[in-house]
Amino acid sequence: MTARADHLAAVQRFARTQLAPVVAGWHQGAVPDPTLLRAAAELGLFGIELPKDAGGLGFDFAQKAAVCAALAAVDFGFAMSIVNTHNATLRLHLSAPDLAAHYLPGLLSGQTAACTALTEPEAGTDVAALQTRATQIPDGWMITGQKDWIINARHAGLSIVFAKCGTGDGAAAIGAFAVDLTAPGVTRHATDAGFDQTSLGTGGFTLDAVKLPPEALILPAGTAFLSILSEINGARTYVAAMCCAMLDASITTVATYGQTRHSFGKPLMDHQAWRLTLAQAQTDLAATQALTDRAVAAITGDDPTAQILAAQAKVHAVQTAQRHLPALLHAMGAEGLRPVHALTRHLAAMQSAALTDGAIAPLLERVARLSWPGSRQTKD
Ligand SMILES: Cc1cc2nc3c(=O)[nH]c(=O)nc-3n(C[C@H](O)[C@H](O)[C@H](O)COP(=O)(O)OP(=O)(O)OC[C@H]3O[C@@H](n4cnc5c(N)ncnc54)[C@H](O)[C@@H]3O)c2cc1C
Repeated sequence: MTARADHLAAVQRFARTQLAPVVAGWHQGAVPDPTLLRAAAELGLFGIELPKDAGGLGFDFAQKAAVCAALAAVDFGFAMSIVNTHNATLRLHLSAPDLAAHYLPGLLSGQTAACTALTEPEAGTDVAALQTRATQIPDGWMITGQKDWIINARHAGLSIVFAKCGTGDGAAAIGAFAVDLTAPGVTRHATDAGFDQTSLGTGGFTLDAVKLPPEALILPAGTAFLSILSEINGARTYVAAMCCAMLDASITTVATYGQTRHSFGKPLMDHQAWRLTLAQAQTDLAATQALTDRAVAAITGDDPTAQILAAQAKVHAVQTAQRHLPALLHAMGAEGLRPVHALTRHLAAMQSAALTDGAIAPLLERVARLSWPGSRQTKD
């Protein structure tokens, strides 16, 4: 086996033996035990794409997407929480070596979580409308604003915060800052959804004239927005991979149950009308998985088709899973509703997956704009 196959097998074992037994309580309000984060750190999950000489595993995007899928098959929230800390860690390493030296030990060991904060109460899809503002002061920056719906924000120690710099406006004025969420002037809150996914750790914070050192500016105005656009293609793609994994895991759960549960004298699986539900889901999954694999390959290879494939893969994977999960749940009868099975959790996760890293309508708009660049469309 290759190093990457060995690593993926270890992650799958972790998901099966350490995550699966405890996740059922999380969607009912509990949160992951820190020992699981330490176990994830031992598997190198906070530094998958980080070079080895920086303490990471030195793998590529394809490995990260595979790890995300393996974890999401058990719990989407846990997978997203891990990958969000990973991404902030990588961003620090690439853009702020001095800060990285300070934060990396905590981040890579699972002791410190991190988040990436774009969304605000009045700015979601329209990122350029964000209102958080950073003003230069003699000894650095002062930042004021509000963020909400941020994965890990309820417990993270560090956030990459996107804010407008100086008096500028529009996308070109957006810069990115590393903000210590324990600093004076930071007040945080938990953000709960009706679909309980507490392992996501969603929350927000208010920054009230928070002082930052000069080196906190990690992406200057003019570069941050472009960086968001490029990184978000990767995020859309691993979300698509996670949706495929959740649908795949659900099909397996239902198929296994259908072989043991009897009705009218034979296993459910032996009733043709019953197994067609599974066959349809399996067929649509094969198509969306193929599209997702193409997107993963394009992102990994830095291919120019990555942008459109990432948007298409996310739309297709979310919608395929949203279409099939209710039917799969129904196919298990009342048993499917028990939290010990992941079906209701995956169903709820799909609503979050539809929004994170780009909602469906703006993604379709992007597909249209990239497919017919001459036509008049709104900017996304
Ligand atoms: C579970 C979860 C985790 C998240 N994690 C993070 C995070 O870690 N960091 C972060 O910064 N953000 C995060 N978000 C926020 C997420 O990025 C936003 O929810 C998303 O960008 C959509 O913004 P919005 O919810 O404000 O919806 P809005 O922008 O208000 O849009 C509302 C609806 O209108 C549609 N719409 C918007 N504009 C158009 C248009 N031009 N044409 C047609 N339809 C349109 C959208 O598709 C959507 O259906 C998270 C969200 C969720 C639910």
